[in-house]
This record gives sequence, structure tokens and C-alpha cells, in this order.
Amino acid sequence: VASKECSINDLIKGVLSFSAAMLRKQKVHVKLDLANNLSQILADTEKLKQVFVNIIVNASEAMPEGGELAITTEEKENIIAISFADTGEGIPLNDKSRIFDPFYTTKKAGTGLGLSISYQSIKLHGGTIDVDSKMGKGTTFRINLPVLPKIL
Ligand code: ADP
Ligand code: MG
Repeated sequence: VASKECSINDLIKGVLSFSAAMLRKQKVHVKLDLANNLSQILADTEKLKQVFVNIIVNASEAMPEGGELAITTEEKENIIAISFADTGEGIPLNDKSRIFDPFYTTKKAGTGLGLSISYQSIKLHGGTIDVDSKMGKGTTFRINLPVLPKIL
């Protein structure tokens, strides 16, 4: 894996500026709450950026009338916790266990690959990714990344 020292906050900001036109068009308002004292981490930045893009695109697709996407970062005990909370349609309880499966999609033109690839990328960094969702209220993806990954 091509890993290097990077700032998670900078990766998120980079992905957001890259997605700014799409977010504006979809009327997604982004609320950022990024911790200012995060450690640099050793990571494959291309893979992590792809994970963040996947989650941001999914969030905006879940909010066809627009909405809010709150992104936070914090660090606790050598773990960087990143959360993406949208105000979209939510995920039915029965589907929650399947969203990380390859080819699982509820979209007409979806590939169902975004979250399964994201899951693998986070696992490769020694981290975890989880989802929390309430129908009609919204969905939150939480990623935990170790500051010092064992395998990269
Ligand atoms: P795709 O976007 O091509 O459908 P993904 O792997 O990115 O594939 O997502 C799989 C499925 O998980 C989506 O089709 C959707 O049903 C669900 N999903 C993912 N993110 C969200 C979200 N933020 N809100 C609601 N449902 C979501
Ligand atoms: Mg997707």
C-alpha cells in the first residue's frame, strides 16, 4: 500500500472543495466541525479520499431535496473518529446489514460498490466503519482510524 503521513482534516477539505459544485447543485449544506489538534496519520490518501467521496455522494443522493451534511473529526486515545451525518431518507433496518455488501444497491443506476470498497479500504488501514440510521431522519457513517496503523 502506498502510505504517507497525512492530515485527515486536509483530506476532507480537499474532497469537499472537489465536490463543492455538486453539493451546491444538490442543495447540500455542509457543516464542518474538525478538531484542530489531530495527529497526522500514515495512510493511503487516494484510498481514503475515495472513501470520503463515496460517503459524501451517497449522502447527497439520500437528500434529493437537499439537506445538511455534518462532518466531524476528533481524536481519542490514538484513534481518529470521523463522522458524516446526513438528514436524508435513512436506511431501513432490514437493509442496514447489507449496505457494505458488493453490488448491493437500492438505486436505479447504482453499482453497489462504493461502500464495499470503502469497507475494504478502512479495514486495510486497521480501522472500522459503521452506520447508524433512522428512517426519515437521516444516516450517520462513523469511521475510526488508528493513528498508528499496524499493517501499512
Ligand atoms: P450505490 O451508491 O451505487 O447504490 P453504495 O455501496 O455506495 O452503492 O451504497 C449501497 C446502498 O446503501 C445504497 O444503494 C443505499 O441504499 C444505501 N446507502 C448508502 N449511503 C446511504 C445514505 N447516506 N443514506 C441512505 N442510504 C444509503
Ligand atoms: Mg454510492
